[in-house]
Amino acid sequence: MKNNLNTVQLKRNGFLPQRQKDLFSMRIGITGGQIDATHLRALADAAEKYGDGYVHITSRQGIEIPFINLNDTDAARCDMDNANIRAGVAGKRVRAVVACQGDQVCNHGLIDAQKIAQRLDNLYFGADVPYKFKIGITGCPSACLKPQENDLGIMGTVHPEWNKATCTECGVCIKRCKANTITKSGNSIRIDKDRCILCGECILACKKDSMQAEKIGYTIFVGGKVGRFPREGTKLVELFDLEKVYSIVDRTIDLYCKNGRERERLGDVIDRIGIDAFKKETLVED
Ligand code: SF4
Ligand code: SF4
Ligand code: SF4
Repeated sequence: MKNNLNTVQLKRNGFLPQRQKDLFSMRIGITGGQIDATHLRALADAAEKYGDGYVHITSRQGIEIPFINLNDTDAARCDMDNANIRAGVAGKRVRAVVACQGDQVCNHGLIDAQKIAQRLDNLYFGADVPYKFKIGITGCPSACLKPQENDLGIMGTVHPEWNKATCTECGVCIKRCKANTITKSGNSIRIDKDRCILCGECILACKKDSMQAEKIGYTIFVGGKVGRFPREGTKLVELFDLEKVYSIVDRTIDLYCKNGRERERLGDVIDRIGIDAFKKETLVED
């Protein structure tokens, strides 16, 4: 089959040129690193039919099928459309949102990372932006999904509260706290709130329900990136209302679109305009 698509259109369909002439790696758009078994089977079929019989798992929870001939790109995309599998994106666009398993699966999870990823993906996946824009959601301060390495990262947090009534003063929570923020004084347990990293391990450790969640939060990091010029994401704010988190994501992407220069990542925009100016624009109340 003759393929009349140019390289730009091929990229739009998820086909990334390989170093070998007329061969492409087909990128699939996956949200939060999750894909159901039916789609996996369709990808396996496509890898055997059009590729070299294997798939590549990318560093951002994606899947690519390498070694697809230019002449097969239309047919491969057609098979993907029939299987309801969307193309991945590259270039100056919002990339697929990555996320850990969050509180629906992981013992340590504090927030529903997958649900947040799905919502943000539905809103922004593939949107045109000045350069690439990556979003990562992680369920707790263990930060498996590295929120500080994304243009925008969201991390679940919990504020523990001690309940004296049921406490047996066993000291298990003290041993479990890796930040060494819990101390015992007489028959009282004290948490140093300034040093607490909001991980919730003390709550998990206490078998008497004496350590409880006072409130669950969402910490937002902005401007993170890796690569040739890495920048650690700046902690923007911790919020307790998920709808407000979504508003800040929206304002952040809006600010990026209005202020970002050619090939400038969000972190570079923040460094250029200053974090105070950035906060002024993004943290305004609705
Ligand atoms: S970041 Fe936390 S919730 Fe997510 S996988 Fe890691 S330990 Fe589990
Ligand atoms: S683990 Fe629970 S019961 Fe034991 S000292 Fe800590 S709060 Fe009290
Ligand atoms: S939430 Fe984590 S850092 Fe804070 S007191 Fe509990 S175990 Fe320590």
